Amino acid sequence: MTSFKSLGLKPEIVQAVEALGFEKPSEIQEKAIPPLLEKPQDLVGLAQTGTGKTAAFGLPLAHLLDFSKKQVQAVIICPTRELCNQIHADFKDFLKFIPKAKTVAIYGGASFGGQLKELDQKPQIIVATPGRLMDMMRRKKIDLSKVQYCVLDEADEMLNMGFKEDIDSILADTNADKKVWLFSATMPPEIARISKTYMHNPVEVTAGTKNSSAENLEHHYFIVDGRQRFAVLKRTLDFWPDMYGLVFCQTRRQVIEVAEKLAKSGYPVDALHGELSQPQRDAVMKKFREKSISVLVATDVAARGIDVDDITHVIHFNLPNEIENYTHRSGRTARAGKSGISIALITPAEQRKIKDIERKIGKKMEHSQVPAGDEVVKNQLAGYLKELIEAPVDNKSFTEWRAMAEKELAAISKEELIEKILALKLKDIVTEHSNAPDLNRKAGRGSRDGGSSYGSDRDKFATLFINLGEMDKLDKGGMLRFICENSNAEGSAVGKIDVKREFSFVDVQKELADDIIGQLRGAKMKNRPVKVEVAERSQSRGGGNRNSGGGRNKRKGFKKKSFNKSEGFERKRKRKYTK
Ligand code: AMP
Repeated sequence: MTSFKSLGLKPEIVQAVEALGFEKPSEIQEKAIPPLLEKPQDLVGLAQTGTGKTAAFGLPLAHLLDFSKKQVQAVIICPTRELCNQIHADFKDFLKFIPKAKTVAIYGGASFGGQLKELDQKPQIIVATPGRLMDMMRRKKIDLSKVQYCVLDEADEMLNMGFKEDIDSILADTNADKKVWLFSATMPPEIARISKTYMHNPVEVTAGTKNSSAENLEHHYFIVDGRQRFAVLKRTLDFWPDMYGLVFCQTRRQVIEVAEKLAKSGYPVDALHGELSQPQRDAVMKKFREKSISVLVATDVAARGIDVDDITHVIHFNLPNEIENYTHRSGRTARAGKSGISIALITPAEQRKIKDIERKIGKKMEHSQVPAGDEVVKNQLAGYLKELIEAPVDNKSFTEWRAMAEKELAAISKEELIEKILALKLKDIVTEHSNAPDLNRKAGRGSRDGGSSYGSDRDKFATLFINLGEMDKLDKGGMLRFICENSNAEGSAVGKIDVKREFSFVDVQKELADDIIGQLRGAKMKNRPVKVEVAERSQSRGGGNRNSGGGRNKRKGFKKKSFNKSEGFERKRKRKYTK
């Protein structure tokens, strides 16, 4: 069996890996580490999140860098602040037994001051998002002239987010002799171009096997309309009639609301949240343990005390604010060797968070479909028929009563009898779910091939008017970055971008437009509030003045589409995970 020691890593690194509890190298580690230690060379690693790729580049860096020197020798570039923080934390673990090692995380959305202070400590390794790193380089706050290794992590994701120019600049403006290690889940042509331009005969490694913690715990998510969460929850509960499950909400108020609505609809539920007194909590837990209720609606705070072994499902009515809590929540099922299912209800704009969770749990989450109404009826019927067929009839006295029943039912045909039983048993389910609408929303991914015309994309995209333009030093890439950084949208949700002097037109997927507008409206550009609205294109994209609030809407060719609250889009500033 391959061990970390047999890969040739220094003892203090093997010790760190053992302290982390890694027993053997994952596939990507086994394939990437030996060539990276053998000689300085470029590498392309095709690996998804959760495969252990952070250690695949982190451990060789820990082995190769000269930590007695106080200069930046390696820079790791990754797409998001969350990933940046995670790599930073992982590196701390890898370098635990190398006293002089220092890693600094540099990312946008946080103050420069704190990061500059960290840089004063002369780290050997910098983990950064492309935009902030470029900023620091431009301001001459970071000296990358001695960089020997440049790692691009989740390269495809960075390109998706519009960081192409930044990556090019970073690779072009750093030491020409550096080695580039590029990791990506997919290999679009643009990645091949980067590899061709900046790398020399790179070693190529591919790994598909993931590190999965709880093998018997399945992670799924449904993409739904935020306003339909409750309908989706009910359908999910009905789809699994034998569910013994937990439903998690973000707030106490929501927990109470959801539990009350479920109880009103006849579900055996109760609520658990931080404001219950200890005796109240004990009483709820007792009911749940004894299974007199089969669904418990809870907040994250309450989750930690739930130690019940045979929970079959954990449903995330919405995702937790703290990514950490996803693990706490889903860990309530698949315990004691049993299997379990975790299902998150997310909106299209929340898809980016799925990636963060996948990283955290080291496992892929399955995009599953909300069951169709007819499937629910079918499942319920099958469950009932099983119960009927297997019902034990051991009480002799039934023979006596059967005669009476037979006499009463003599005039009814078997078909009629079956229908009547079903009507009695499944009326509510059939009324609610038979021919019920599809509750799935489409995933927020679409083509961004740039070549498509507005005409052909008209059905898919909504055009947004944004009061930012060339005057704000934005080009197409900059605008895409601005949108990705200030909303939950992925680059793939954005279509054609038309940057004018004072404002821009940006096509975004229609179904995500409401969410994106709501999120961008909380954003600022150099302390100036960002204005965003839907512009309906009828003829051309000419003219306009960013300061004339209503005036721009009167321009020829555009009319403002009014959105009102009843259309239900979230206006709240997006909540980001914090570590
Ligand atoms: P990554 O793909 O680097 O985000 O890693 C995914 C998860 O796998 C993280 O939680 C790591 O701590 C964990 N991990 C990485 N390498 C190993 C290993 N060799 N054995 C067990 N777990 C690992």
